[in-house]
Amino acid sequence: MLSVLATAFCLGGCAAPRGVNYTADGYSLNTYVKVTLYGCGSQRVADEAVKMCSYYEEIFSRTSETSRLYALNENGSLDIETEEDKRLADALKSALQYGEMTDGALDITIEPLSSAWDFGGDASVPDKEQLEAALKLVDYRKVEASNDRILLNGARLDMGAVAKGYIADRIKEYLIGEGVDSALIYLGGNVLCIGKKPDGEDFLIGLQRPFGEGNDVMCALRASDLSVVTSGVYERFFYENGKLYHHILDPDTGFPCDNGLLSVTIIAKDSALCDALSTACFVMGQEQAMRLVDGLEGVYAIFVDSEYRLIYSEGAKEFVQE
Ligand code: ADP
Ligand code: MG
Repeated sequence: MLSVLATAFCLGGCAAPRGVNYTADGYSLNTYVKVTLYGCGSQRVADEAVKMCSYYEEIFSRTSETSRLYALNENGSLDIETEEDKRLADALKSALQYGEMTDGALDITIEPLSSAWDFGGDASVPDKEQLEAALKLVDYRKVEASNDRILLNGARLDMGAVAKGYIADRIKEYLIGEGVDSALIYLGGNVLCIGKKPDGEDFLIGLQRPFGEGNDVMCALRASDLSVVTSGVYERFFYENGKLYHHILDPDTGFPCDNGLLSVTIIAKDSALCDALSTACFVMGQEQAMRLVDGLEGVYAIFVDSEYRLIYSEGAKEFVQE
């Protein structure tokens, strides 16, 4: 199993010209996470921001037996009582809306398929019967979520495509409440920046070259008060009989999407929207995804195709640093 943790990262020049920066990092949400505050906040605030990832992992994890999501999947329903339940319901409701918006390309009831492929574990191509049985359960329209109850009606949830974006937005809220006005939140391929660098310049976010090593970027994107999220075939994959199988699944076929794309990067204010759309646009394929993104105000996409060409939605090229 190969796995590249970093998809996008801050390129050089982020340090405050004067003043102190505070960084906290760790391994959480199945990925490397890092929060840096530039010339504001404190070490305690940076540490607290990273700790929030563990708090949310205990809500959204598909595999941790103590998570709220695990309980929901096991019981098929959840009475919303605690703060944690509310957060789960909150993220779930917006993920269902993103499902509608993308015509089911994003489908958080993908869990039976995620389990069958098991990209996080000992992955192999599932047999036909297993895939067919799993496919029957996948349909986000089965799920009912009101203010006091979640009902799965036979579905099972995997929030892997949306949780990091939701969590990044919550960390941003926390940091702003602590008076932070210049920061980078990095959760695996999810980047969210608050404000600009202390010198007044935009942050520079690297767009990772698919299958590249470490800092191998295709271009640098200028961003302030924006989120940049990438979904790509190279994040979790395996080879079987010479064919590459990756973790972004087509809810219609049960197989990894095979549409000539290597990655999709979404740029927008809201990290939850970026996360949902990066996965969904990957599933939709370039043409359909481009139409969706071009119709959305303040949302931009950059596709990397199998020839490593960069393809931009309307206005997306403006973010590239020449
Ligand atoms: P990453 O988690 O690597 O940043 P994504 O945000 O694209 O990447 O999420 C991919 C994860 O989402 C998969 O590992 C799987 O758990 C889940 N997933 C795969 N295909 C879909 C889909 N069509 N709709 C919703 N979730 C999906
Ligand atoms: Mg996503």
